[in-house]
Amino acid sequence: MSGFNRREWLASLAAAATASPSTLASAAQDRDRRRSQPSKTSLALEDYEPKSMLHVPETKVARARFPVIDFHTHLSWSARRNQGERARFNATPGEALAVMDRKNIRTMVNLTGGYGPVLEENIGYWHKPLPNRFIVFTEPWFNKITEPRYPKFQADQIARAREVGARGLKVTKALGLYLREGVTSGSLIKVDDRRFDPMWEAAGAHKMPVAIHTSDPEAFFLPIDRFNERFEELNAHPDWSFHGKDFPSNRDVQEARNRIMARHPRTQFVVLHVGDAEDLGYVSECMDRYPNMHVEIGARIGELGRQPRAARKFFDKYQDRILFGTDAVPKGFETPQQVFVDALYEIYYRFLETEDEYFDYAPAPKPPQGRWRIYGIGLPETILRKVYYENAVRLLGLTD
Ligand SMILES: [Zn+2]
Repeated sequence: MSGFNRREWLASLAAAATASPSTLASAAQDRDRRRSQPSKTSLALEDYEPKSMLHVPETKVARARFPVIDFHTHLSWSARRNQGERARFNATPGEALAVMDRKNIRTMVNLTGGYGPVLEENIGYWHKPLPNRFIVFTEPWFNKITEPRYPKFQADQIARAREVGARGLKVTKALGLYLREGVTSGSLIKVDDRRFDPMWEAAGAHKMPVAIHTSDPEAFFLPIDRFNERFEELNAHPDWSFHGKDFPSNRDVQEARNRIMARHPRTQFVVLHVGDAEDLGYVSECMDRYPNMHVEIGARIGELGRQPRAARKFFDKYQDRILFGTDAVPKGFETPQQVFVDALYEIYYRFLETEDEYFDYAPAPKPPQGRWRIYGIGLPETILRKVYYENAVRLLGLTD
C-alpha cells in the first residue's frame, strides 16, 4: 500500500457513506489533484541505509569450525622514513593474537613483508617470536627495475628472503597497473614481462608460493557513472579507477598473468581476490587450464555471496585449490570490508558455514563495495577443512 495514506482512505470511506454521487465525484477529483502534486522527498544515495525487512535466521558464528590460516593479511606496510625504508606495523603481535584466539585463527600470513632490511625487521617482529602464528612473505624490489642486472638480482633476493625466513612472494596489482619503465613514468610494464621470469622460477625452486594480485573488480575498468555497480566506492576513491588513460583492460591483465602461470608450471600461484570474482566461469576455465593456479577469497565474499549457487559449485569443484583469506588490515576502518576486527571474521565464517540469507558482507552500516547483500553457501566439513587450513598447510609446506 505504499503511497497510499491510510487516514485519507478511512476518511474517504466515511465521506462516501454519507455523500451524494455528485460530491463523491468531486472528492475523487480532489484526491487525484492532490496525488498529482509532487510530494517526493529527495534523499542522497549516500544517506540511504535501508534495513532489510526479511525475517530470516541469523546465525552468529563466533569461531570458525576448524582452525583457520588467514592467507591474506597486511599486518605491516613499508614506509619511507628519512633515509631508507622501515616497516610500519599496523598492530602489535599481542593485539593480533587477541583477535586470532577469539576467532580460532591459528596463523596469519602477513603478505606485505617488504624486502631487504624491512623484510628482516618484519620477520624479527612477527615470525621469529611466534613462528606458528605469523608467517611473512617478501615482495619484489620494483624500484630497481631500471637496473640492467635486475632479473638476476631479483631472483637472488628470493633465495635470500627464503634464507632469512620468508615463506612466499607477494606481488601487488602494481605489476600491470602502476609499475612503469621509469618506475613511476614511461609506459606500463606488463605482468608477463620477461625480466621477472627468473623471479617466478626462483620462487618455485625455493617452494615459495606466489600470492599475486592482478587487476581489480571489473567495475573499476568502467566509467564512474550511474551504470557503474560500484559507483559509491569509486566516487569515494576515484584514484581506484583504471578506466581510460593507458590502462589495459581487465581481461588483458588476467591473460598476462595466465601466461606466467603457463610459463612457470613448477611455481605455485595463489591468485588473490579469486582473480575475477564477478566471472566464475572465466576463473574456472583458468583453473582447468593451469594446475598450478589456486585462488584466495579475500575481500570478495561480496561477489561470491551474491551468486551463492555458482559459488557453491565452484567450491565443490576446486575445493583443493581455494584458500581462506580476508585482506585484513588492522585499524583499516576506511575499508570496512577488510578491517581486522572480530565482526569481519564472523561474516566470513557465516558465509562459508551457514545457509543464512541476505546479510551484510562487511561490518559497516552501508555495503562499502556495492549495494547488495549476500547468502551463505553452507560448505560441508571436508571442504571447510581444506579451505580453512589444509590447502594452505600444503602450499606453505607446514608440518600439519
Ligand atoms: Zn591485500
